[in-house]
Amino acid sequence: MEIPFWNTGWLEVICGPMFSGKSEELMRRLRRAQIARKRVQVFKPAIDTRYSTEEIVSHSSLRMPSLTAESADGILGQLDWRSQVVGIDEVNLLGEGVVEVAEKLADSGKQVILAGLDTDYLGRPFAPIPHLLARAEYITKSLAVCMRCGAPAKHTQRLAPDGELIVVGAMGMYEARCRSCFEPGCPVQERLDFGDSAEAELD
Ligand code: ADP
Ligand code: MG
Ligand code: ZN
Repeated sequence: MEIPFWNTGWLEVICGPMFSGKSEELMRRLRRAQIARKRVQVFKPAIDTRYSTEEIVSHSSLRMPSLTAESADGILGQLDWRSQVVGIDEVNLLGEGVVEVAEKLADSGKQVILAGLDTDYLGRPFAPIPHLLARAEYITKSLAVCMRCGAPAKHTQRLAPDGELIVVGAMGMYEARCRSCFEPGCPVQERLDFGDSAEAELD
């Protein structure tokens, strides 16, 4: 990725399904900024307590200290305006207000790196990522590995039945699926058929 040398801010979005390496990629970019001795601040939504409340953590156990925010406004409240790079993980959990906040930060000269899901558990575009993609200078779409067939996976398959749009969870509740293995909503439990012989054994 070509990084501008002039003194302006910009938006970078990293999107894709769960397990596709968004948090790993976010941390890789933030570490490089730290190596370059830039002032870096990292945020995650307070609702995301999956592995830690004070760190962003990847499914491969990479971690980095972070601040938590209840909403997008919480980011502005905790912002050190000297920060040159601002990373935000799991932007889907911060609501639509994160678009305005991200624009404000980029307009004020910061490199803003945002990571989040681009589709929901039904495969629909998942706000606010589509709105951020339209505004971003740089876009990275990452794919996971389909847990059914090994193909590149763009979908997040919900395994447990729940009608809520946002249900925070990881392994066991969700898995990555490719276009052909994805079953929107929850996969239907296959009826197990043990046949007559199994019934006979139970007698
Ligand atoms: P994301 O933030 O997109 O959910 P993470 O960065 O937290 O993803 O985790 C990516 C890591 O998850 C991979 O490097 C790999 O070690 C692990 N992983 C587990 N399941 C999968 C999968 N189905 N496809 C790809 N990586 C997976
Ligand atoms: Mg992540
Ligand atoms: Zn598949």
